[in-house]
Amino acid sequence: KDLTEESKDHQLTVALRIRPINDGEIEEGATITAHRVDDQIVVLMDPSEDPDDILRANRSREKTFMFDMAFDHSSTQEEVYVATTKNLIAGVVSGYNATVFAYGPTGAGKTYTMLGLDSEPGIYILTLNDLFKAIEAGSDNMDYNVSMSYLEIYNEMIRDLLNPASGYLDLREDSKGEIQIAGITEVSTNNAKEIMLLLTKGNKQRTQEPTAANNTSSRSHAVLQVTVKQKSRVKNITEEVRVGRLFMIDLAGTERASQTQNRGKRMKEGAHINRSLLALGNCINALSEKGGNRAQYVNYRDSKLTRLLKDSLGGNSRTVMIAHISPASTYFEESRTTLIYADRAKNI
Ligand code: ADP
Ligand code: MG
Repeated sequence: KDLTEESKDHQLTVALRIRPINDGEIEEGATITAHRVDDQIVVLMDPSEDPDDILRANRSREKTFMFDMAFDHSSTQEEVYVATTKNLIAGVVSGYNATVFAYGPTGAGKTYTMLGLDSEPGIYILTLNDLFKAIEAGSDNMDYNVSMSYLEIYNEMIRDLLNPASGYLDLREDSKGEIQIAGITEVSTNNAKEIMLLLTKGNKQRTQEPTAANNTSSRSHAVLQVTVKQKSRVKNITEEVRVGRLFMIDLAGTERASQTQNRGKRMKEGAHINRSLLALGNCINALSEKGGNRAQYVNYRDSKLTRLLKDSLGGNSRTVMIAHISPASTYFEESRTTLIYADRAKNI
């Protein structure tokens, strides 16, 4: 591998997390079809084929997938955070952009990983805690300003989750060509408890609609946008403000319209969700392309999500995708398509 390939590996990290099987799934008679073999390897077993047909079973029932890292029921929130996101912080504090997103079907653990529970906080809170520590450590020479916004993209429309009454917001390019969301709430606080409260409250504002497959299917992408502005404290030098941005995204569920028997409104939502996910998928694939000028293959304008992420995917930005699956046999189809998607995204 030459240097450019090395840096591209660095640019996109693909992780896979298998959540624990739950009591409901066990009561339904579900078996475990996905398990982690080691730090990188995950095996998926097809539950539908005849388990007594041993010859055939050995050939086709098991599929092996390899990722940059793999987590399972024994992995803690802290472990997932440290391995995937912690090392993005230094870059963001010195003015680079980064994106972390949770991908997978509804119920597979995306919100658990990103938001988490009060007792088991996820990547949002663990990242912000360390970000504030990093800034405090550097504040002898620099003035920092940190602000955050929490929004959802639903049917290609943007809503402020910290102020849902403000209606739909527009994306605008400022004079420097940077994308801004007009009128969005920006919060500056480094109180972790306060932030968790804001985000938990905001998360309850997300658009959730019942579908045939899931009672509380998340039909929206939730985006936590953290902006770090940095200015030298040394006087008499040209005032240069550096801006680093971190996006942490809890994507809409990837279940397909056919599985949820969507009709009418649901169908339209599905189309919009797919548009954003498809556009994101195209960007991720372009990132993992070997050789060539990646930027020219990427059309960020295809969806709201990719427009918002324009400066935070590719270039000098780092991207982490955490794909999620349930180990339960009832999720087999969703797990299979998620593993295939995540497998294509990585550039090994
Ligand atoms: P999604 O956001 O992908 O729809 P959730 O994060 O809401 O899925 O997870 C579904 C349920 O499983 C929730 O009750 C959640 O708390 C639980 N869960 C998910 N991942 C884990 C995990 N790694 N450990 C323990 N519980 C989990
Ligand atoms: Mg969710």
